[in-house]
Amino acid sequence: MVLVHPKNTSRTCPICGHVAKENRPSRGQFYCRACGHAAPVDNVAVENIHRAAVNQPNAAAN
Ligand SMILES: [Zn+2]
Repeated sequence: MVLVHPKNTSRTCPICGHVAKENRPSRGQFYCRACGHAAPVDNVAVENIHRAAVNQPNAAAN
């Protein structure tokens, strides 16, 4: 079963993996507080969903 958490996909930096609600300065905008990566939230969420689907951390446990 593939579990993707929609909440965190838009708060997680696809570059460094930093997760924080502060990474969302405004609706629709992503700005990583850790590495400075900036992009539209939609792009970030898509990147993270792709990564989560390909790279499931719990896949071995299933
Ligand atoms: Zn980052």
